Amino acid sequence: MGKSFVNPDLLKERASCSFNKEELTNLLDGGKEATEHRRALESYILSIPGAFEGVSKYDHLGHKEFYEVAVAKSKKIMGALQVSNMEGVGTPQEAFQMLFGGWMGSTLGLDGNPLAVHYGMFLPCILGQGTPEQIVKWLHMGWTLEIIGCYAQVTELGHGTFVRGLETTAVYDPKAEEFILNTPTLTSLKWWPGGCEFQVAVVGNTATHAIVVAQLYTRGECRGVHPFIVPLRNMDDHSPLSGIEIGDIGRRMAFNAADNGFLRLTNVRIPRENLLMKHAQVLQDGTYIRPANSKLSYGTMVFVRVMICRDMCNQLKKAVTIATRYSAVRRQSEISPGYGKYNIASVNDITQPEIDVPGAGEVQILDFVTQQWKLFPALATAFGIHFGFQYVMEQYHQVNEHVNNGDLDTLPQLHILSCGLKAQSTGDAQYFVEVCRMACGGHGFLMSSQFPQIYGLCAAASIYEGENTVLWLQVARYLMKSELQQTFQAEAINKGCLFQGQTLCLDAVLNAFLCVAHGRIRSSFHNLQSLISQGGICFEEAMNRSSVALVSAAKAYIRHFSVAQFVAHVKNQMSQGTRNILGTLCRLYSLFWMLEDLGDFIIYAHVSSEDLKHLEMTRGELLREIRPEAVNLVDAFDLRDEVLVSALGAYDGNVYEHLYDAALKSPLNHLIKSKL
Ligand SMILES: Cc1cc2nc3c(=O)[nH]c(=O)nc-3n(C[C@H](O)[C@H](O)[C@H](O)COP(=O)(O)OP(=O)(O)OC[C@H]3O[C@@H](n4cnc5c(N)ncnc54)[C@H](O)[C@@H]3O)c2cc1C
Repeated sequence: MGKSFVNPDLLKERASCSFNKEELTNLLDGGKEATEHRRALESYILSIPGAFEGVSKYDHLGHKEFYEVAVAKSKKIMGALQVSNMEGVGTPQEAFQMLFGGWMGSTLGLDGNPLAVHYGMFLPCILGQGTPEQIVKWLHMGWTLEIIGCYAQVTELGHGTFVRGLETTAVYDPKAEEFILNTPTLTSLKWWPGGCEFQVAVVGNTATHAIVVAQLYTRGECRGVHPFIVPLRNMDDHSPLSGIEIGDIGRRMAFNAADNGFLRLTNVRIPRENLLMKHAQVLQDGTYIRPANSKLSYGTMVFVRVMICRDMCNQLKKAVTIATRYSAVRRQSEISPGYGKYNIASVNDITQPEIDVPGAGEVQILDFVTQQWKLFPALATAFGIHFGFQYVMEQYHQVNEHVNNGDLDTLPQLHILSCGLKAQSTGDAQYFVEVCRMACGGHGFLMSSQFPQIYGLCAAASIYEGENTVLWLQVARYLMKSELQQTFQAEAINKGCLFQGQTLCLDAVLNAFLCVAHGRIRSSFHNLQSLISQGGICFEEAMNRSSVALVSAAKAYIRHFSVAQFVAHVKNQMSQGTRNILGTLCRLYSLFWMLEDLGDFIIYAHVSSEDLKHLEMTRGELLREIRPEAVNLVDAFDLRDEVLVSALGAYDGNVYEHLYDAALKSPLNHLIKSKL
């Protein structure tokens, strides 16, 4: 069906761009060369036969069929990447990162990826926690898919967050130099490990090994939780080994290509060398050697959480792109007679014939201010997450260097920042993806819009690698350290007026966020102190009683960080046009999050009713400024159609044709035809 021309409404939007789109794309990628490199990688991946198969290709499959397709397809594409030299455009590792993450994850048409845990968790865990000998032994087999690993981390049927409560045991037997692993109760069954399921139809393609986290016992003493490599299957016929029961936990809200499973271990024996021993060791006679520093295990966690921020940023960019393009071509209702009419000939270029605007005479829904107030804060937040991620990634590389030189001092602070940004980015993305979906009315509810898949992936990320509330409380616990309180007393001085003339002043806004963060932290700290000293309760109980306020303090601290990163980026070297539009987005980002927590800004930053009136007027102005740039801004994300995989978000804007094409793929339509 597809037309070969672009919807005139999108042509009109693209004809009025006040900034250099390519410059903004380069800025987001990290430079001109980085953009070229990314585009070359994308083109290479898409050139692999069968990589991209269109919109809604697998939407109609059942649980089992979908999973089988996912395993076969992933293995084929990953295999093709591994054996080629990729024509010099990049490395398989880079391609894998794109395919497993939020950028090209949707390209394969799957919902998650069955090999993501293997490459994204199992192998990094061996690299991060294994000795050089262990890395040599396991890494090559893992990389070439001779073995496939899943990650039976801390989640059991009865426990997730509370690591110390974990019931799985690994008892050392010095005579045999083996560990004996058991999940002794129903509640101790490992639950959720990704890539773990047993499927006869695809036998050989699912997990052969697991990293199992268990309570280590040696010489009669419990030494806490440690990671072990546990073989799961007979490598000849792939049946489960003796003492191992393994299965699928059933269909989930999302991530159905990544087969989350369960695992029961009954007296499973593994050699002593299968304990990952980079940090802690058990010697042949059972002597336990503690890790030199308990902070050493933070490194892998930080990396994974930083990667989650990047993925959330990409997922939100996709959702905003889809919703903004759709809102530019969707015409509905009227504002006033003649509103929004324009001369089609003025935008139709010579490359395509003069064509009708679908719904001409009605208004582009992007012109409704309520629609703008849904989409533009989402757009600004995508930039906000991006700049926060960029900063924390740079920090990660720096801190890693320090750690390699034996200096661990900066690791805890980075760990806390990564916890907070993971919770904030997954929360923001989940919230705004849903806003974008709702902004597309009924069509947003279709699988072919891609919103359900994007939403599911963001919702899942709010849970795994640290459930968000629990992460916020970790940030708060760090902030409550009494030695930090001096900092919070000293820095936050309310500098008064938010506006310079009529313009919302970014430095003053940033200061207001700082006042709120420090005010919230101070107030929580004093509350905790008085609960302990006057209420006569212990620190932990006081933490629980104050936990709602503590979460708010942690959120305020991280939001201030994100606003600070955004403001800093606006001040970087760039052309005036790009700086202007980024400045506008930064103001909208700050204003949106300020209005979300208005009470705090009134209490801690002394925002007055006069300021509030001014803020509401500014909101209208910012939305008007962004309106003509919106389509160009999402174009600058540079998400090609094969990455968006959405009937609503394609670059050409021919949504009705794409929706119709996707609908025809429903197997129910084939049923009707065959009866005719
Ligand atoms: C798609 C997906 C993939 C996953 N993949 C894996 C995997 O590969 N391997 C693996 O091991 N696990 C995996 N998990 C499991 C995941 O890591 C856990 O679900 C997560 O850690 C939360 O634990 P829980 O489910 O036990 O929730 P709980 O810890 O029971 O939390 C339930 C509620 O209690 C609250 N709560 C809990 N403790 C506290 C506290 N101390 N203070 C305040 N509130 C608290 C939480 O905020 C939450 O609201 C996956 C989960 C999902 C959704």
